[in-house]
Amino acid sequence: MKNLVEKAKEKHILSADEIVSLLSDNSINNSLFKAADEVRENFVGNDIHLRALIEFTNICRCNCLYCGLRAENKNVERYRLSKDEVLDIAQNAVNSRYKTIVLQGGEDLFFSAEYLGEIIKCIKAFDVAVTLSIGERSYDEYKLLKECGAERFLLRIETTDKDLYSKMHPNMSFENRKQCLYNLKQLGYETGTGCLVGLPGQTLESLADDILFFKELDADMIGIGPFIPHPQTPLKQCDSNNFWLSLKVMAITRLLLPDINIPATTAMETLYENGRTIALQSGANVVMPNVTDSIHKKLYEIYPNKASVDYSQLQNVLRSIGRRISKEKGFRCKR
Ligand code: SAM
Ligand code: SF4
Repeated sequence: MKNLVEKAKEKHILSADEIVSLLSDNSINNSLFKAADEVRENFVGNDIHLRALIEFTNICRCNCLYCGLRAENKNVERYRLSKDEVLDIAQNAVNSRYKTIVLQGGEDLFFSAEYLGEIIKCIKAFDVAVTLSIGERSYDEYKLLKECGAERFLLRIETTDKDLYSKMHPNMSFENRKQCLYNLKQLGYETGTGCLVGLPGQTLESLADDILFFKELDADMIGIGPFIPHPQTPLKQCDSNNFWLSLKVMAITRLLLPDINIPATTAMETLYENGRTIALQSGANVVMPNVTDSIHKKLYEIYPNKASVDYSQLQNVLRSIGRRISKEKGFRCKR
């Protein structure tokens, strides 16, 4: 099994069967995490890129079974930030030395591409990179948002198992999800995708297919999130012990896509003590601190007890593991 880790480390290629073998054997975990950490250091270095996350709306037209913000969850107090509120938060983040602003929200069509475009143009005046995470829109809407200055887009495929995708996403189409990702790539966005790990009915085979899909898309960023059950969703009874499996999916992703940006996700820190630090030592090179004000942060509950961290806390943690915060915008340097 150690040979497989070595092969992935040297050649950055594995078959689906080989990925499944790695995922099912926990005796290799330490060598897998160490290899991913070495590949991360060789290809993207020791700098950590910080992305300031602004959760600008918790209103969503979708009903993803796992998400606390799903439209059918009537217990959520819904909000939309105004343009001025978003710009104030962005300005504060820029003052705190963040080089990327991420605008994330539910699929809320109140924010038309034109209106979002105006907000993006104002944020671009702060000389930072802009990432969007707003779900599925048409090719023309993505095009307009790109023309207004957005450089990156995060849209997880969530799972490449078509049947599971349909079960998890009522009234959504797997084909459209994929098409959106290819549209984003074609438009020249740095394209981020990723998957949830631990969904009910998900197999190791489908996780292997997820990783191979990231490679096929030539994704620029990959976010791997352990699924955390939310008590007001149909998946409230599910298990939430998915930390180590999601760490393994992340580490294998680093071996196969050595030069991309990979966040240590908030869900990892939420599920496991020091999960963020462990992820940064197993292949991750990005952190996305939430800079939304505390009132709205509480209302953006995709899962309970979301971990949070600020710039100076992170600086201390990173120093303790021999890493430092990048002063650059942190685009992918393709190698
Ligand atoms: N609405 C946009 C979308 O779905 O792409 C962006 C916001 S959505 C809250 C961002 C991500 O949250 C999703 O891609 C999903 O993987 C993740 N998420 C939602 N519910 C979750 C849960 N219960 N556990 C872990 N991650 C979750
Ligand atoms: Fe809406 Fe995104 Fe949550 Fe799905 S994951 S319900 S699209 S906010």
